[in-house]
Amino acid sequence: MTAEPHARVDNYWDASKKPRVVSPPLIGDAAVDVAIIGAGYTGLSTAFHLKAAEPSLEIAVLESETVGFGASGRNAGFVMTLFGASVGMMKALHGGARVREAHDYMVRSIAGLEAMLAEHKLDCDYERSGFLKVATSPRYVARIRDEIALFEELGIEGYRWLNIGELAGRVRSPTFLGGCLEPGCGLINPRKWVDALAGLALGKGVRLYEQTRVNKVRREGGKFHLSTDNGTVTADKLVFASNGYTHLIPGMRSKQLPAFVFIVVSEPLTAEQRAAIGWAGREGIEDGRNFMHFYRLTPDNRILMGGGPGFVPFAGRMHHDAYPAAWQHLEEFIGTTFPALRGIRIAHRWGGAFSVTANSTPQIGTLHGGAAAYSVGCTGHGVAMTHMNGRILRDLVLGRSSDLTDLWFVNRRSLPLPPEPFSSLGAKAVTVAMALDDWWCARGAKPT
Ligand SMILES: Cc1cc2nc3c(=O)[nH]c(=O)nc-3n(C[C@H](O)[C@H](O)[C@H](O)COP(=O)(O)OP(=O)(O)OC[C@H]3O[C@@H](n4cnc5c(N)ncnc54)[C@H](O)[C@@H]3O)c2cc1C
Repeated sequence: MTAEPHARVDNYWDASKKPRVVSPPLIGDAAVDVAIIGAGYTGLSTAFHLKAAEPSLEIAVLESETVGFGASGRNAGFVMTLFGASVGMMKALHGGARVREAHDYMVRSIAGLEAMLAEHKLDCDYERSGFLKVATSPRYVARIRDEIALFEELGIEGYRWLNIGELAGRVRSPTFLGGCLEPGCGLINPRKWVDALAGLALGKGVRLYEQTRVNKVRREGGKFHLSTDNGTVTADKLVFASNGYTHLIPGMRSKQLPAFVFIVVSEPLTAEQRAAIGWAGREGIEDGRNFMHFYRLTPDNRILMGGGPGFVPFAGRMHHDAYPAAWQHLEEFIGTTFPALRGIRIAHRWGGAFSVTANSTPQIGTLHGGAAAYSVGCTGHGVAMTHMNGRILRDLVLGRSSDLTDLWFVNRRSLPLPPEPFSSLGAKAVTVAMALDDWWCARGAKPT
């Protein structure tokens, strides 16, 4: 990794966000019914749904930085149905019936998100623009068509193969050989969504402590004691909504690993550039790679390009928000995909960590005999599901049995990650295998 020429992190969503008053940190001690660690989508929606269900509960959300500091303020805003890793891998691991159930959950999550936007009149630049998974080599054509066939075999609807001509009618790239259209997906402004969730939680009377890192969690006398730099929170119930940072909390190391991914955003496209590439439907697009590229238009018609080179940091270290080599790759990849945009000025570059579990499957569950609950492992696909995960966490905290807590991925016995250095070495082996598979699949790509 080099530090030049672009080492500065500059998140487009932050640059374009509406001003928000940052809540003061915890100074002194506090006692609450429920403490929640993390003010991303998961923590804030858990707080909101809990307070809506039981208004008398005292709930505190503790955030080490500010609202949306983690993946929730940094993602690409794809609102999608993908649960965990690829559908083929999920079927191999969990069987067809569970893949169907997870897919239904994701469809319900998108509907729930749209319902929340409508009910609370939230302006989050949401577009039901659909999702395209594009094939950029003959092997990806075969792989994506196999995925569509697998969905059909499982009785899951909503995917349609577009041949090269049909796809070109939507968005023009010399690298596209066809693709799968999923109209049920959307795009959102991720920063507006997390700020909106904070507003909803605060509006219900949730206490939010920003710039308040939880350094240690101790269970004593039937209560949790959360130590922060300037005070302690005592709580009957605890929710870990710390996602890709969860391994840093003592006692939670084996739950998940962080994986870093990077994004660039261009200057706004000119009318000529828009005309050259088409894309009137503004679909979110991904390719078929393991280290996939994902791209979309922003509300002000810039191109956001993300993915490509990413990595699992050694021993879960988190200081990797800048990766100039990945930014350089993404900048060049814009020109490869859309020659009319070659050389377009890049205005924003950033990166962040998503959360991966040992089997790449989201996990929601309880600890300490039900007194604590956690959610990890959205595997880079948490925008749609996290507000619904918040409803599951609500039910777990309240000790309620519901259709949500009956879902197969809730309170499921899960594989712990091994201690270091085995975790990092295992992750390295998996990422090398993924990269080799990407190399093999890309061979035979149509020349551009
Ligand atoms: C670059 C990138 C692009 C992505 N793109 C997409 C996409 O397009 N579509 C999609 O579906 N998903 C995407 N994802 C994944 C998605 O953003 C996440 O699944 C989702 O935001 C997870 O939300 P969360 O609330 O669980 O976690 P986070 O938003 O990560 O929130 C966790 C919070 O906990 C806080 N925290 C951690 N430890 C402590 C502590 N000890 N004390 C106090 N606070 C603590 C952190 O500061 C953080 O704010 C992307 C992720 C990344 C990184």
